[in-house]
Amino acid sequence: MSKKPGLTVLAGPTAVGKGTVSTYIRDNYPGVWLSVSATTRPPRPGEHDGIHYFFKSAEEFDSLIENGELLEWAVVHGRNRYGTLRSTVEAAIAEGRSVLLEIDLQGARQVKEAVPDAQFVFLAPPSWDEMVRRLVGRGTESAEEQRQRLETAKLELAAEPEFDHTVINDDVRRAADELVSLMGLTPNP
Ligand code: 5GP
Repeated sequence: MSKKPGLTVLAGPTAVGKGTVSTYIRDNYPGVWLSVSATTRPPRPGEHDGIHYFFKSAEEFDSLIENGELLEWAVVHGRNRYGTLRSTVEAAIAEGRSVLLEIDLQGARQVKEAVPDAQFVFLAPPSWDEMVRRLVGRGTESAEEQRQRLETAKLELAAEPEFDHTVINDDVRRAADELVSLMGLTPNP
């Protein structure tokens, strides 16, 4: 039985395509409100403040933590900090929106503590080889970063049983449609 909550958390291993699936949902399902995280990571080419992330300095991120403004936060891949802004998520839930968080596993565990009745969905790769191919193929990380992300991915794959549902990302649109169905919305024809 699926829960029908206001809040759905999508997590899964590195390079599984969480970003692609959630961007597809943002662009095709206006009924879903995709949370924009804060991060200390510098923007990649084509990324814009307030759309992809709220890009913060280390000091700004410290204040967000100190002021209790983050629902969860984590150091991801041993480097940068990422966190969910509590007020925007709470406001969207209060407005009755279906809210989607695309975050890492550490963050998902924190949300489970804070909001136990949220729905937790694990996005899985069709296979390990496919996941490695996607990570290397996207070419946004150095060889050292790729190695580190694959180490993290091994641990992350083992976390699947902690989730309410698993969606396999064999095809972005199919996976996105399955996720919105779990959120209680009707997939586009
Ligand atoms: P990227 O740097 O490739 O945009 O994202 C790296 C990782 O950070 C992804 O696994 C993504 O799920 C995770 N991430 C993005 N936003 C958040 C957040 O607000 N909180 C947590 N815990 N992880 C996040």
